[in-house]
Amino acid sequence: MREVRVSKKGADRLLSGHVWVFASDVEHSGGAQGGEVVKVVDAKGRGLGVAHYSSASQIALRLLSPQVELIGRDFLKARLRAALDFRRRMVSGSEAYRLVHAEADQLPALVVDRYGDCFALQTLSQGMERWQSEIVKALVELAGARTVVARNDAPVRQKENLPRETKVLVGEAPAETEVTMNGLRFRVDLLRGQKTGIYLDQRENYQAAARHAHGKALDCFTSTGGFALHLASRCESVEGVDSSREAIAQAEENRKRNAFSNIAFKIADAFDLLAGYCGAQRRFDTIVLDPPAFAKSKAQLEGAARGYREINARAMRMLPAGGILVTCSCSHHFSEAMLMETVAAAALEAGKRMRVLERRTQASDHPILLTVPETHYLKCLILEVL
Ligand code: SAH
Repeated sequence: MREVRVSKKGADRLLSGHVWVFASDVEHSGGAQGGEVVKVVDAKGRGLGVAHYSSASQIALRLLSPQVELIGRDFLKARLRAALDFRRRMVSGSEAYRLVHAEADQLPALVVDRYGDCFALQTLSQGMERWQSEIVKALVELAGARTVVARNDAPVRQKENLPRETKVLVGEAPAETEVTMNGLRFRVDLLRGQKTGIYLDQRENYQAAARHAHGKALDCFTSTGGFALHLASRCESVEGVDSSREAIAQAEENRKRNAFSNIAFKIADAFDLLAGYCGAQRRFDTIVLDPPAFAKSKAQLEGAARGYREINARAMRMLPAGGILVTCSCSHHFSEAMLMETVAAAALEAGKRMRVLERRTQASDHPILLTVPETHYLKCLILEVL
């Protein structure tokens, strides 16, 4: 194994439990090639573990193990087996879940989502890209994968100088797949759906939202209808809104498959819709806000806060006493504290007193690694108007 020497700052970062070293903290790359497994050493030559090296990304090293150990096929298989065992313990009532959540499963930059016996993977670093065929073999062997597709169209691949592409790696990708989640049927488009097919991280929040929902509901940023479908059996009517034509077509298909006649989906810009409804003094009893990440970097935090505040204040204005607001942020830069502060400012602006019913996060199949804050990205607050 080649040795990559890191600065004191880089070493301290690893010793504090993080798993990344930035390129600026690499003192000597020891001739390592992009995607190679390397031994990480400090200035005195002490081993800090083994990592995947990237020749392009600002994240130059992603730790595979804090021990200096040989990394072969068995290592990868053991990690995948552990990921599978963890989901067997944590997930119930769903054929769809995240099987590998990258750093939090000690498989940095690897995402594997499971839809029944179809699997969609993303290899988001040069190192994981090199391991792709071994990962696929292990998925067939350990999890009985019938179909495996690579959804490597994610923009972050560009930071690794990797091409953006979607490929069928095993079997034939069915034109569509159907999964059951929380007793509801969802159509999945493995090759073209958002992310790797559908959003999986709100699975437990759907049920939590449904526990509190009532009356007339509005689901903003509904995508393929996750919240809307879960609310339908509890609410008189549900309106689901998204700006993506494809997502709404799929949401409508899901509505039909689950035979709900009280949901109406529509294509619209949620900012404009909220402004219009608010201006027209419309009333809803339950509103869900699950917007895309407004802050993709720290520089965007201020603008993000304005965006969250605007949509939350408008939603709150439309809720009567006893009304329920389910409000989410999926930007990991935007912390839960920031979201609470922003939502509090929105409540003051809207002249509402709100009580926090639940403070939630991403579903447990998207675990959070305590020392890697980036793995905690989804926040979901459920609030009630007093
Ligand atoms: N709630 C969804 C996930 C939402 S992801 C679920 O549980 O599956 C964010 C969604 O916001 C995406 O579907 C995207 O198409 C949509 N979106 C982005 N900008 C929008 C806008 N301005 N108005 C409405 N929808 C928007």
